[in-house]
Amino acid sequence: MKTCVIYGDMSADSAADQYPTVNLCNDCVATDDAQGENHQIVIKQAYDHNMGDTCEWCV
Ligand SMILES: [Zn+2]
Repeated sequence: MKTCVIYGDMSADSAADQYPTVNLCNDCVATDDAQGENHQIVIKQAYDHNMGDTCEWCV
């Protein structure tokens, strides 16, 4: 599990919606790594327990 900043809704007004911070499991991080130019993760950070323990993309 990693806490990542991903590309969100670019038409949104707030930076928090444009670049939301979410938890992603290791499988989803690895899948994103394989996407090349189409990757969705902007920044990978250490897992933040305050964010919960659910993968944003698996739910
Ligand atoms: Zn996942």
